[in-house]
Amino acid sequence: MTPAQIVAQLKKFDIPFAEYKDWEKHNRNHKGPWGPVHGLMVHHTGSDSKDQRELLYKGVNGLPGPLSQFGLGQDGTVHLIGWGRANHAGLGDDDVLHAVKEELTLPEDNESNTDGNRHFYGVEIWYSGAHAMTDAQYATLRKLAAAICDFHDWTEKSVIGHGEWGSPGKWDPGHKPGQMMDMDDVRADIKATLAKPAEDKPKPPSKPATSPKPPKPVKPAPKPVKAVTFPGRGYFRPGAHNKYVTQLGQQLVRRGYGHFYSKGPGPTWTAVDRAAVKAFQKAQGWTGANADGYPGPETWKRLFY
Ligand SMILES: [Zn+2]
Repeated sequence: MTPAQIVAQLKKFDIPFAEYKDWEKHNRNHKGPWGPVHGLMVHHTGSDSKDQRELLYKGVNGLPGPLSQFGLGQDGTVHLIGWGRANHAGLGDDDVLHAVKEELTLPEDNESNTDGNRHFYGVEIWYSGAHAMTDAQYATLRKLAAAICDFHDWTEKSVIGHGEWGSPGKWDPGHKPGQMMDMDDVRADIKATLAKPAEDKPKPPSKPATSPKPPKPVKPAPKPVKAVTFPGRGYFRPGAHNKYVTQLGQQLVRRGYGHFYSKGPGPTWTAVDRAAVKAFQKAQGWTGANADGYPGPETWKRLFY
């Protein structure tokens, strides 16, 4: 995108924004390549200060600015800080970049071998990460991500957290100390925002900024065809491809979670399977690690028996 194009997208998605200094020309293109861009990376700044424009513009000792293209204030305003290469992503995992580019399920981030500043837009959200961002910030994040994906014809899978990138020790965007937000949930929200861009308004203003949960199935669960023994956790992980994944997906559809699947279910474990399992687990009243979207014996039992 050019600076004019991003401004047009911000307007299209009804995003409050402000321009800072000479942001259109402020970048690190003289220090390294910029583009092709494949995604948006989400960060917290690590600080709750009210005005972090100059920090992001100028940078810090040893890390010159711009530190990102976008700053996101607590009131939900996007601040345009720079345009072009910026110092936000550092080195990360080439497998993650490949997955973002091809819009695949993200692999484990266990390498730091690839220049992220070249390939990602970055949004630095002004909060410490030790608590949730404000509702206004989250609402704008959804719209900003949707605006960028809309321009490039990307899906929500092109949006990742810094903590998914492969830079050691990174856990942004956080929601409690040391803990990254569930980025699959964030991506599901971005997907929903992408599905109804600003011109499809009006939408109810009372809608909470946080993730709309899929409706719980109202019909009583039909009797499953037959009980199946839990095959083991190893069959349900990123990259898995087996008949149990299909079985699981088909049973989720029978149990009222079919709306997660725009295609499938199939034998390859995807973020969609995980989201459907997670919704099923939450419907059991489970939280935290018990509702992480990966089935264990108890999930299996409740699903099939
Ligand atoms: Zn970061």
